[in-house]
Amino acid sequence: MLNFSRRDFVVSAGLAAALGINTRLVVGPAYAQKTPDPQKPFVTYKVGSAEVTAIYDGIWEKPHDPAFIANASVDDVKAAMVKAGLSADFVSIPFTVAVVRNGGKTILCDSGTGGQVQPTAGKFMANLKAAGIDAAKIDVILISHFHPDHIFGLMEKDTNKPVFGNTEIVVSDVEYKFWNDPAVIDRLPEARKPLARRIQAVFPTWKNIRQVTGESEVAPGIRFVSSPGHTPGHRAFHLSSGNSQLMLSNDTAYVPALVVANPGWHGQYDQDGVMAEASRRALLDRVIADKIMICGYHFPFPGAGTIAKDGTGYALTVMKT
Ligand SMILES: [Zn+2]
Repeated sequence: MLNFSRRDFVVSAGLAAALGINTRLVVGPAYAQKTPDPQKPFVTYKVGSAEVTAIYDGIWEKPHDPAFIANASVDDVKAAMVKAGLSADFVSIPFTVAVVRNGGKTILCDSGTGGQVQPTAGKFMANLKAAGIDAAKIDVILISHFHPDHIFGLMEKDTNKPVFGNTEIVVSDVEYKFWNDPAVIDRLPEARKPLARRIQAVFPTWKNIRQVTGESEVAPGIRFVSSPGHTPGHRAFHLSSGNSQLMLSNDTAYVPALVVANPGWHGQYDQDGVMAEASRRALLDRVIADKIMICGYHFPFPGAGTIAKDGTGYALTVMKT
């Protein structure tokens, strides 16, 4: 869901300042992270016979910014963070990558930040290794959408060399076509242009990207679920094994304290706020109706839980581990 790569910080510090981004990230020494990393940065749980491992990549303690939620004030955002038991000092945005083992395959769900989004994130590869998972043995990578925090883990910093050059990368055809249209650069807001340029310089040169249409089965027991709005081709992932199911929300419902509790809030990183809200409500209603588990890339680590209706919104109950 993030707008800025580290490179963007360097080239657009003025813009970052204008948007209320903490420019200490550009010029300061090591950023003092207030949230401790989880003691154990990988957690494995079962969904039927499938095994899901949540791997911690890091956190963005996002400074408050009146532009972050279009239809809520900074005070509203602070109150929502406190209600969820989090600090009001910043918006807590952790990054958690899921690895699913099912049907004899090891499936990576998004790729982490690659250490190129925030100085307080980029621990995915080390934590993957700590979890005993060999990056070279990942069979397939599913990508939810092309925002930096979900795809920069695919490409080396500066060189753009592929990190997973021999692994199939499955993406939505809608998402691929949107970002790779040369005309899109003129239409995007300034802060998004470098992202589109990087995608266009890299992805068309890779032979291991497979575009899929609609809600195809993309790996054993996993289907794409169309959930547009955050980006045009955003996909959630639905894992099914026996009688158990898990909905990987990805960024359909990104920070639960904000947009699960208040599904009508339109975030700055939702490209189409109205469409994103409709996708979010549909996904959360489906999870409730089907009584299944949900996890999210920006949920509090390890990120899995259940959803219930709560007044005009929804409430996430995080799984005990
Ligand atoms: Zn995101």
